[in-house]
Amino acid sequence: MAHTTARLDLTGQRFGKLTVVAPAENIGRRTAWLCRCDCGGERIVKTVHLREGKVTSCGCAKEKHSASALGLHYVDGTCVEMLRANTKRRNNKSGVVGVVWRPARRRWQASIMFKGTRHNLGMYAQFDDAAKARREAEALYYGSFLADFDAAQTASTSQEAPA
Ligand SMILES: [Zn+2]
Repeated sequence: MAHTTARLDLTGQRFGKLTVVAPAENIGRRTAWLCRCDCGGERIVKTVHLREGKVTSCGCAKEKHSASALGLHYVDGTCVEMLRANTKRRNNKSGVVGVVWRPARRRWQASIMFKGTRHNLGMYAQFDDAAKARREAEALYYGSFLADFDAAQTASTSQEAPA
């Protein structure tokens, strides 16, 4: 029996960020379409995925919020890039990250965030002492952490490189 059912034509239709450009070869027994994404990317998507709204971009939309797409690395729940930035940023009144003036105590409080936990480094009458405590804690907590991370990155990069 001849199969005369007209083939579904999605050419020109939009699904999220994707516009169907042309029919593509079937994926298995599923019909599929070459789609162009608003970002300029292309992707071949099964008809069923387009119609059900399962695929709405070349992959860029889905990954936009993920850490890996932003180039961030998490190790044990600590974001390496935030950590690095944190050692340089000057974003509070004292001018030193992790050192804040506690008016009620009339002391400078030093603290450090590491792996999601704030470690209290004590109260200091002298700002310089609080800043010093913070610097020492940075070296202790971040120094080895970043060194380990960099070593791991270097190791994995050299493994991937062609021999
Ligand atoms: Zn895209």
